[in-house]
Amino acid sequence: MNTDAPQMVFDAAVIGGSYAGLSAAMQLARARRRLLVIDAGQRRNRFASASHGFLGQDGRAPAEIVADGKAQLLAYPTVSWMDGSVVQAEMSGGEFALGTAQGQLVRARRLVLAPGVVDQLPAIEGLTPRWGRSVFHCPYCHGYELGQGRIGVLGVGELSLHQALMLPDWGQVTFFTNNGACVLDETQRIRLAARGVAIEPRPVARLVDHATVELADGTRVVMDGLFTASQTRVGSPIAEQLGCAFDVGPVGSYIRTDALKETTVPGVFACGDAARATGNVALAVGDGAQAGAATHQSLMFR
Ligand SMILES: Cc1cc2nc3c(=O)[nH]c(=O)nc-3n(C[C@H](O)[C@H](O)[C@H](O)COP(=O)(O)OP(=O)(O)OC[C@H]3O[C@@H](n4cnc5c(N)ncnc54)[C@H](O)[C@@H]3O)c2cc1C
Repeated sequence: MNTDAPQMVFDAAVIGGSYAGLSAAMQLARARRRLLVIDAGQRRNRFASASHGFLGQDGRAPAEIVADGKAQLLAYPTVSWMDGSVVQAEMSGGEFALGTAQGQLVRARRLVLAPGVVDQLPAIEGLTPRWGRSVFHCPYCHGYELGQGRIGVLGVGELSLHQALMLPDWGQVTFFTNNGACVLDETQRIRLAARGVAIEPRPVARLVDHATVELADGTRVVMDGLFTASQTRVGSPIAEQLGCAFDVGPVGSYIRTDALKETTVPGVFACGDAARATGNVALAVGDGAQAGAATHQSLMFR
């Protein structure tokens, strides 16, 4: 990266301009710091038409919540915005230099990483186009809207048992163990029976219609909604490039942070799904507020 050309040095650069990044940026903006938000525009929940469970915004379109947050942030005069994807980061002389895929170069004294995560979906035919519409991962986000109807759990691994045991609070559950994708012992079967869960061991061929599971023998099992466990990876390689440590959670690894949301690399903060074992919009906003305030205070007190 050619960092010789003179450029303005921002107090902070925020990578990711969704719930967590906007919330972090808001704290810095209100402290009148010069900051830049760089965003690639690929929110994790962009497949869903409504977002649930975030106080004051329950049921609104996810894009509307972000658009309102962005408009409120950009009203502060010290905030700059860049559409783009950061692909490179270096630290030297107490500053960070960032390069984007679009060829822009940015310098900042502090970094806030809020790149979210990318879901790696199970390889079941018909699942990807239904993700966020009739196939979900989080019952707190989308379970209530199924109206206590027929819920299928598509078994893909250990977490599927947990989902199958939880979901009877939201409807009548069938656990598709999918020909050994989830192997159940006797104790687990007893626990599932106690929760009223039906077990369907036949292999799943594909998903059809709204949320119908077609089995390999051609049987069609009509459901009102389906749940499955995705694996996740942090949405950007920047944390690795900077040498941040990671922790391993139940669905993937995430950036390690302390209670103030600082990573193991001084001056680099992280928030939202990328810095939590599991996340949602409310947690991302809360994390972002903490990261933004801590970033600001690190500019004053170090
Ligand atoms: C289908 C689905 C439905 C969901 N429904 C709900 C719900 O109803 N309620 C709820 O509370 N939660 C829901 N969630 C979870 C919610 O989407 C996440 O918890 C939330 O989006 C996390 O916010 P974030 O800011 O950490 O990351 P994200 O919202 O994923 O945003 C990350 C941003 O960073 C950008 N970015 C990544 N890398 C770079 C880079 N290198 N340079 C620049 N920008 C970058 C991305 O493009 C993106 O814009 C849902 C998730 C899914 C998958």
